[in-house]
Amino acid sequence: MTVRPADAEDAVGGVLPRWVALPESVEEVAAVLRACAARDLAVVPAGGGTKLHWGLPPERCDVLLDLCCLNEILEHAAGDLVVRAQAGVTMDALAAALAGEGQELALDVPFSEGATVGGTLATATAGPRAFRYGTARDLLIGVTVVLPDGTVARSGGKVVKNVAGYDLGKLFTGSHGTLGVIAEATFRLHPLPAARRWVSAEVAAAELPGLAAALAAAQAEPSAAEVDRPEPDAPPVLSVLVEGAAADSRAAAVRELIGGGEVTDAPPPWWGLITRDEVLVEVRFPATGLAAVLEAAARAGLALRGSVLAGRVWLEAWRPVGGDELAATVAGLRRRVEAAGGRVSVTAAPPCAGLDRWGQVSGLPLMRRVKERFDPGRRMSPGRFVGGM
Ligand SMILES: Cc1cc2nc3c(=O)[nH]c(=O)nc-3n(C[C@H](O)[C@H](O)[C@H](O)COP(=O)(O)OP(=O)(O)OC[C@H]3O[C@@H](n4cnc5c(N)ncnc54)[C@H](O)[C@@H]3O)c2cc1C
Repeated sequence: MTVRPADAEDAVGGVLPRWVALPESVEEVAAVLRACAARDLAVVPAGGGTKLHWGLPPERCDVLLDLCCLNEILEHAAGDLVVRAQAGVTMDALAAALAGEGQELALDVPFSEGATVGGTLATATAGPRAFRYGTARDLLIGVTVVLPDGTVARSGGKVVKNVAGYDLGKLFTGSHGTLGVIAEATFRLHPLPAARRWVSAEVAAAELPGLAAALAAAQAEPSAAEVDRPEPDAPPVLSVLVEGAAADSRAAAVRELIGGGEVTDAPPPWWGLITRDEVLVEVRFPATGLAAVLEAAARAGLALRGSVLAGRVWLEAWRPVGGDELAATVAGLRRRVEAAGGRVSVTAAPPCAGLDRWGQVSGLPLMRRVKERFDPGRRMSPGRFVGGM
């Protein structure tokens, strides 16, 4: 295992670690965490580093645990549509290996050049096809984690050792490195669809709620419907994906349903991507809240992109926004979105004193108990997540 002094490029949200450790096996991850526990050192796990600036900066960071050397696909049981991979495998490498067998992990990863299996699970953000296939949490069937004291624990899949009473896969998905280290993951796969077609058209914002409801119920069974509205006042572009058998005739049906548009066999260039994530806000909402969310985003002057079917969109700032302005913008946005039954959380933002990143989080006491149980010494990515966890 390599351990080297950290340099400026290793900073996490501006916080410079002292060392970078590059373990090459699960046992070495455990050894690093045991050594850190003995010395009360704080650890931040890292995958491809594409999104290390998401969340709050860690309160302290002694060791950056870089998982890039844990990069083996351990088992691909093609007949069972299951793959087991180490945390540092990039999503691109995984996709390439699975495509060779005509299969895929149905997650859309926007920063695929660097994003890893571990980082994808730890951030757990859903992309376009979550509407049809579910999110990372739904496709994960087993996980191996290393707890802050160095204990290796497994859950789901082929269970060797478990932590009684906890579904580790569910807990660690979206944990942002605050509970321990994801070392391996087992996923359910899907066959690559025979064909994919995207139907894209400019639509009036006022028509979107009706179209989304019609698409959700449509016999053409779209896998995703995304909206792109880079200019808050511009008409949104709606793009709908159909996959599998009879894709052409189903695309034609979708085209008719949305009142025209272009049919392509490649996604629009913005599909599933984030362009600017200095300021990035996630909005989740029930189907009935779509009109209010569109209006609230436009009023806040933010660019919007995301799923009208799954009720999850990203808002980006298209120009630099000062701290006070951002705090006020988010507060106004949250008021309107919450009134429509939705939720607003700030995924990434420059340091800004008055900004409430998460708003009211109903499960907070439970999350605190889980954190206390897994990481009583507050050494795993301390302060990164909601409620200062
Ligand atoms: C528009 C959009 C759509 C997306 N769609 C999807 C999607 O469909 N499905 C999906 O799963 N993701 C999706 N994502 C999330 C995206 O894939 C993340 O950027 C990616 O997962 C980050 O990977 P990384 O390896 O670069 O992580 P890093 O940037 O290195 O780390 C990210 C966080 O995870 C922690 N972490 C990293 N590795 C581990 C580990 N092994 N154990 C514990 N904690 C760790 C880090 O400490 C940090 O807090 C989406 C994001 C966006 C913006």
